[in-house]
Amino acid sequence: MNSLKEEVLKANIFLWKNNLVYGTQGNVSGIDNEKKIIYIKPSGIPYEELTESKIVGIDLNGIVIEGNLKPSVDTPHHLYIYKNIKEAKGICHTHSKFICVFSVLGISIPVITTAHADVFGKEIPVSKYVDNRGDNIGREILKVYEKTQSPVIILRNHGLFCFGDSPEKASFYALISEYFAEIFYYTLIAEKILNKKIKQLPKKEIKKWYNRYHSDRYGQKK
Ligand SMILES: [Zn+2]
Repeated sequence: MNSLKEEVLKANIFLWKNNLVYGTQGNVSGIDNEKKIIYIKPSGIPYEELTESKIVGIDLNGIVIEGNLKPSVDTPHHLYIYKNIKEAKGICHTHSKFICVFSVLGISIPVITTAHADVFGKEIPVSKYVDNRGDNIGREILKVYEKTQSPVIILRNHGLFCFGDSPEKASFYALISEYFAEIFYYTLIAEKILNKKIKQLPKKEIKKWYNRYHSDRYGQKK
């Protein structure tokens, strides 16, 4: 079993290897609720220079308790989400390309493929635009989550925030959301060219795929 710190490092590198982050932007964190510690990417450090010792450990108030570097500037948003959404054990933030297209347009991503139905079982919603002061981002994420129960939220004119039961899950959600956004983007273009009409999968079908994927019928025995 990897340590949480190692998991957070791996999840950050995963974003970079999958071209979901550019420069030093984006970040993943993970929380250990028993030890009351959160590990997060350091601020302004390129992904290719990330090592386990550079991952910053902070307490639940954001005070650095492990490491010598400053934590990500997005730390307040991560703290707010951990404080208010108990399901969040890992959080990921990216500005990936196709997600950003829809964040600018303010269009949520509908369930048009069974793969999307499998993983999320619902559309990926878009929040209102908020600036990065105080708890503005955290509060907006919570508001959209309470309304939609979606662990993946497009932040208007910004990017993606998502969370899961581990840093690995959160970074996977960022990858698969980008893939669904890309498919939707090309489908929208093809819809215009071919004069077709995109339809979301029927609710009953979405539920069926989602339930199978989230049952023990999918994957290997644990
Ligand atoms: Zn951002």
